[in-house]
Amino acid sequence: MKEFEDAEITKIKCASCGKRLINILHLNKDQNLVNRVQATCPFCINGNSIVHEIVGLFASGPVGADESSSPTLIDDIHFDPDTKNSQFIIKKDKK
Ligand SMILES: [Zn+2]
Repeated sequence: MKEFEDAEITKIKCASCGKRLINILHLNKDQNLVNRVQATCPFCINGNSIVHEIVGLFASGPVGADESSSPTLIDDIHFDPDTKNSQFIIKKDKK
């Protein structure tokens, strides 16, 4: 798991309230793979993150309860193959 220890993580936050929504783990930097990632915010009304342009293969994960932030769940992902836009639908994790 050494490569994951060194992996770059983008912490996606709500543009309105600043709460953390998801973590993006960068797996490589393949320039031919560019995706746009946006997350909805369950903590405020109509909140969204900005659209992040992610270069390369990535994995996504919710914010864990141990991260001194409100934990989240990824409820759904809406992927648009034309724009390569992935909208992550985020819920609060009740734990
Ligand atoms: Zn918010």
